[in-house]
Amino acid sequence: MSYSDQPSVAQVPYAQLAVASCRMCGSVPAAPVTFRGHRGLFVMMQFLSEQGPFCRDCGMATFRAMTARTLVQGWWGYGSFIITPITVLINLFKRGKVANLAQPQPNPYGPSRPPMHPGPRLLQRPMAIIGLAIPIALVLLLITVASLDS
Ligand SMILES: [Zn+2]
Repeated sequence: MSYSDQPSVAQVPYAQLAVASCRMCGSVPAAPVTFRGHRGLFVMMQFLSEQGPFCRDCGMATFRAMTARTLVQGWWGYGSFIITPITVLINLFKRGKVANLAQPQPNPYGPSRPPMHPGPRLLQRPMAIIGLAIPIALVLLLITVASLDS
């Protein structure tokens, strides 16, 4: 079976699918996993999540996009400075659930379409590199400001 002779994903309600299939594309196998994101804004903060099941490729795409975004948007608050590294670590820990799945195949029991492209690795994304530099820059800034008090 190929992706081209499948009905559209939208034509069959998710609950009717017989096996755990990817929420994004309908392919199998898929693992139930939730990736999280965090956004800090001074005293406010926002907790984001994308719930599976995900196939390998859609899962990796979701993991990389959410983690890279969290690395940039996560740091900007008091509690967020602690929550962001925890969120990233949780995602890294859950990554294996989708990374170790077999290559996505069209779902034999329901509709599916080609999976998302997983995209570049986390450390090949400028956003993630900038994001990792942010806490270091903030700490250096604090040290500089504190040393002005002499
Ligand atoms: Zn998928």
